[in-house]
Amino acid sequence: MKIINELQLAKELIRFPTVTPIDAGIMKFLEKKLKKLGFKTKILEFKEKGNAPVKNLYARLGNKSPNFCYAGHLDVVPAGNLRDWTVNPFKPSIKNGHLIGRGANDMKSSIAAFVSAISVFIEKNKGFNGSISLLITGDEEGVAINGTKKVVDYLKKKREKIDFCLVGEPTNPNKLGEMIKIGRRGSMNGRLTITGVQGHVAYPHRANNPSTALVRILKELKDLRFDKGTKDFQPTNLEITKININNTADNVIPGLAYASFNIRFNNMHTSNSIKKKINKILKKVCNKTKSKYKIDYSVSGEAFLTKPNSTTFMIQNIIKKVTKIKPRLSTTGGTSDARFIRKIAPCLEFGLVGKTMHKVDEAVSLTDLKKLSLIYSKVLKNYFK
Ligand SMILES: [Zn+2]
Repeated sequence: MKIINELQLAKELIRFPTVTPIDAGIMKFLEKKLKKLGFKTKILEFKEKGNAPVKNLYARLGNKSPNFCYAGHLDVVPAGNLRDWTVNPFKPSIKNGHLIGRGANDMKSSIAAFVSAISVFIEKNKGFNGSISLLITGDEEGVAINGTKKVVDYLKKKREKIDFCLVGEPTNPNKLGEMIKIGRRGSMNGRLTITGVQGHVAYPHRANNPSTALVRILKELKDLRFDKGTKDFQPTNLEITKININNTADNVIPGLAYASFNIRFNNMHTSNSIKKKINKILKKVCNKTKSKYKIDYSVSGEAFLTKPNSTTFMIQNIIKKVTKIKPRLSTTGGTSDARFIRKIAPCLEFGLVGKTMHKVDEAVSLTDLKKLSLIYSKVLKNYFK
């Protein structure tokens, strides 16, 4: 069996311009690589009305348990203005010890590091006791409708058991080895419309200004103390993201007022318990001000935490050995596909340094890439020991 070089593979992956939801042939390419390593593979294309179809890949080596899964995405965010880049974002280049290209960081290099790690691991451990699988999506940076969420549903239906999942998203703020993510906060958006009665500013008794209710509501929302945070989580936080009244005249009391907000909440709450709290305020203020409200919520994920277990500590130890840094177990930052996978398996996230993700000249240090591949292969070795 040939050892796969992580840098070589990272470059090959970056060459595919896979801006969500474009596949550009990348799933087939990776499938072929994995087949050569002995994997059984399945490309899963999901469609839904109003959304572009997306290709995903599930591959498994072996049929014994435990099944150790690696999850990641091969789609990338758009390059933006090409003139801002010093290189072509889809022609991987090496400069000053860094590989530059869209996806170099988030997260094609991590996938390359893991595939390389598998090739190293199975070279010496042919008949290992268990299975290695990969859950690769093409819809993480986009709406995430035809991606991991549907793959998880598919795996559930097929009764495919995953015993532990390592998500390879960039988790380190500055240096490789700083941070493992063991959970994520939940995230929910609220879009609020207040309806009053339009009228002449000089005759306010004949109108009902919805801005009065809106301002009171936003003040109360912002003053809400959801919690003080926990050992594992930051305090729940609400941010007002939009306030809008479409009024073109200075002598008219508007009839409608809008606002949007986002809440990042910890595992002391669910989206439903938060909705209840907010709806109570809306009802109270609108009753008092004799206005009406309409609220649309969209939940992008509930909060979750994978209680650290022996696998967590094993991975933490390996990272410390390779990087000389003891990684913090954290739940900070945005959401990731772990929010879907944790429904079928305990998850932990560890990948590269996220400093340049989604930026121009996205880059990965060649040393980090090598170290990450080494960490992943040691994780496999220790997991199946
Ligand atoms: Zn990512």
